[in-house]
Amino acid sequence: MIVMKFGGTSIQDAAAITNAVEIIRGRVGRRPIVVVSAMARVTDALLEIAETSRHGYGDALSLIEALRSRHLSTAAVLAQRDAQTDCSSSDAKEKLNSVFSELESLAESVSTLGDLTNPARDAIASVGERLSSIIVAAALQAKGVQAELADSRTFIVTDSRFTSAIPLMKETESKAKSALLPIIHSGGVPVAQGFVGATVDGLTTTIGRGGSDYSAAIIGAALGAEAIEIWTDVDGLMTADPRVVPGAKRIRIVSFGEAAELSYFGAKVLHPSTVLPAVERGIPVFIFNTHNPACEGTIIAAQPRPSRNLIKSIASKRGVTVVNITSTRMLMAHGFLRKIFEVFDRHETSVDVVTTSEVSVSITLDNADRIDAIKRDLDGIGEISVEKRKAIVCVVGADLKFTPGVAARVFGAVASSNVNMISQGASEINLTFVIDESEVERVVRLLHDEFFSEVDCDMFA
Ligand code: ADP
Ligand code: ASP
Ligand code: MG
Repeated sequence: MIVMKFGGTSIQDAAAITNAVEIIRGRVGRRPIVVVSAMARVTDALLEIAETSRHGYGDALSLIEALRSRHLSTAAVLAQRDAQTDCSSSDAKEKLNSVFSELESLAESVSTLGDLTNPARDAIASVGERLSSIIVAAALQAKGVQAELADSRTFIVTDSRFTSAIPLMKETESKAKSALLPIIHSGGVPVAQGFVGATVDGLTTTIGRGGSDYSAAIIGAALGAEAIEIWTDVDGLMTADPRVVPGAKRIRIVSFGEAAELSYFGAKVLHPSTVLPAVERGIPVFIFNTHNPACEGTIIAAQPRPSRNLIKSIASKRGVTVVNITSTRMLMAHGFLRKIFEVFDRHETSVDVVTTSEVSVSITLDNADRIDAIKRDLDGIGEISVEKRKAIVCVVGADLKFTPGVAARVFGAVASSNVNMISQGASEINLTFVIDESEVERVVRLLHDEFFSEVDCDMFA
């Protein structure tokens, strides 16, 4: 049994879906469970529909029509390509229209209330995956695969933190087994939605942007799959984001620990939570390119393999806010850090990088939505300053642990930039620092030149 997850660009139109269907057909013997994202850019469009509805139904309706026409025409093109598809295509059309009716009612009720609650936002955002899964299941059926739509809301059980809900693994495991195993045992291929789940009471939730990778890992762990395959638009996990460094190399094999650090610090190709369920069950994760299926991709496995290059990859994350708290009273005082972290905890704001000196603490935040309230609460503790538009850059490699002089090479390479915070994670496999957002691309390229001007061909391709 394997899980195959297809991202938005991998199913963005009829041609891409045809390609994905061929890839799935080639693996039917391995008993796949297919997990799909929404078609490219659809989740953004749905969130815009949600916001627009707040101010009136009319504008939302025209956005909904654009989505309807994209989905129906994709389904129609796929149906035309295969003469035997009449039955599954009319069925798919009906299902798509029924999801669109639901979307219209949701938008209408948001506009009537003039208020967009997080449960409503999630119900609207979930529509993308529900639509794409209908089309992919029909396209598979049209090619003779016994595909069966599986509604993730019936087996991905989450808490009720709408928009970033956390899966409840125990409940999910038993429900996923009873929903999916009968399909697989009867020779079928379940097609489920990524990103989407439901509370114990059955209210639709989503598990955070980019969360379909995580859904695939949750399902893989729940069913004890042999492998979790993430099918995307690049050849694998690369030495840097190929959009920033066009000459980035593919990493052949990377450890769970390295992949977790890289995704946490910005390597978007993998959602940061994906690795955890896989580690717990020892299930290897593969990253493959839908547009280049012959490529071997990247294997993420338990043990790192030594390499002649000191680091595996460079990740970066923009839009970071730095909060500095300075207090001379901090000197020798215990309980000071606790007070600070309690404030972030109260505002449900997670912190990424922390550095301390004797009189100050600097903390980076990914999500600064509550920054004004956080500042107010921190005020009594010390003097607060906030710096926006910062970025985190992170170099990762299991060998960093054993090699002296890495920091000298990193900071030598970026000597002309103003570096704010420096931290070596407790895992000792990353070195992280903060710079101005405007410097990111230049710094990542400089570091790439420094560390990857020559590559170990056993490790990189
Ligand atoms: P999907 O829609 O398939 O989930 P994403 O857009 O979420 O795809 O992730 C793939 C993108 O991640 C790539 O197009 C690439 O620009 C970006 N990316 C960032 N860092 C890396 C990296 N180190 N290796 C590969 N891709 C990366
Ligand atoms: N469709 C969701 C998003 O765009 C989830 C995903 O693609 O992984 O965030
Ligand atoms: Mg993604």
